Amino acid sequence: MDKQIEEVLDRNAKLQNALEGMCFQFAGWDDKYGGYTTMGLSALEEAFDVLGWNDPHVYLAATCQWPNCKKQRTSGIPTSNGYMLVCGEHFRALDLKENPNGKECV
Ligand SMILES: [Zn+2]
Repeated sequence: MDKQIEEVLDRNAKLQNALEGMCFQFAGWDDKYGGYTTMGLSALEEAFDVLGWNDPHVYLAATCQWPNCKKQRTSGIPTSNGYMLVCGEHFRALDLKENPNGKECV
């Protein structure tokens, strides 16, 4: 492949990666749909448009693993059914269930 084309493709991949990272960091979270939202901010709307994302951008990789919960995962906890990545509310629920005597989770 032509070296100039390779450089352009590499740069575009880096720009897309940086734009996605900025959206992951600065976009809001929509608890109803389980995904990132622009919250009506024009800079994020432009970024979502460039990335081809809907608003909200459903993102299962960051959604709580508790059944039917669409909140953003914020914590991980070992359970009797394996390690779970969950929101704060379900972290507390699982922590109480798994550690009823109040021992700290490691
Ligand atoms: Zn949850």
